[in-house]
Amino acid sequence: MLQEADRLLHEGKTIAFVPTMGCFHDGHLALMREGQKHGDALIVSIFVNPAQFGPTEDFQTYPRELNQDIRLAESVGVDVVFAPEANAMYDRGHETYVNLETLPRGLCGLSRPDHFRGVATVVAKLFNIVKPHVALFGKKDYQQLAVIRRLARDLSYDIKVVGVPTVREADGLAMSSRNTYLSKEQRRSALALYESLQLAQELVAQETKDAGKLIEKASRLIVSYPDTKVDYVTLCDPDTLEDVERVDRPSLMALAVWVGRTRLIDNAILTP
Ligand code: AMP
Repeated sequence: MLQEADRLLHEGKTIAFVPTMGCFHDGHLALMREGQKHGDALIVSIFVNPAQFGPTEDFQTYPRELNQDIRLAESVGVDVVFAPEANAMYDRGHETYVNLETLPRGLCGLSRPDHFRGVATVVAKLFNIVKPHVALFGKKDYQQLAVIRRLARDLSYDIKVVGVPTVREADGLAMSSRNTYLSKEQRRSALALYESLQLAQELVAQETKDAGKLIEKASRLIVSYPDTKVDYVTLCDPDTLEDVERVDRPSLMALAVWVGRTRLIDNAILTP
């Protein structure tokens, strides 16, 4: 892999890079198609990163579809698929991790305290291995994108970080590899995430600006769907991710919801 990335670099090619955990859906493919516009060569990594899963989370059961993923990547013109084994990324005795001070604290960090340390560490390693000029991440994982943007600046990576809009199913559900866990009934309940974001945007358009009220209405709508439990619903500044009290300017509504035993996330920028 190092050799292929180096060969492309020595040929003077600009490299676009899409890091993933595989089990591709149209969201991943949108990142790849966008990536092609940003580089001469497109590299995709597939790595289910153990360091970003908590001890009670779904690392073991996370869907893995390597052969199908390789075919899909080829179908959209990916030049190199990098799919390392866990022990190639984390040597025995590995003890260096990348920590950010504040961005990982709120939102998903509240219930997944070590998640972003795992994400930041693996992305820093992948940046060093792949040496891309441009790296693309989905806005569906908004906090992750914020963490990576900060990491790239703070660690002086000469890499342009591009955010790609969330790709949704026809009814609005954000595409996710974890949607494969949902039963038919749960799939219906999963619409609660998108519906509550829509409701919040409508309320903002009708001049409701109080964050507490918006969060309450969104949360109520979510739990009106069977088998759902709110992990968090928050309204925050799109750059700093600090809580806002009023939606007087574009603000991020981000949420995580348990549907049965599956935790799903989504977000939207609410604009007054
Ligand atoms: P994952 O394989 O879930 O780690 O995701 C790999 C990349 O795809 C991340 O940058 C995600 O934010 C992005 N991604 C996942 N789902 C979507 C989606 N529905 N729309 C756009 N990007 C997505």
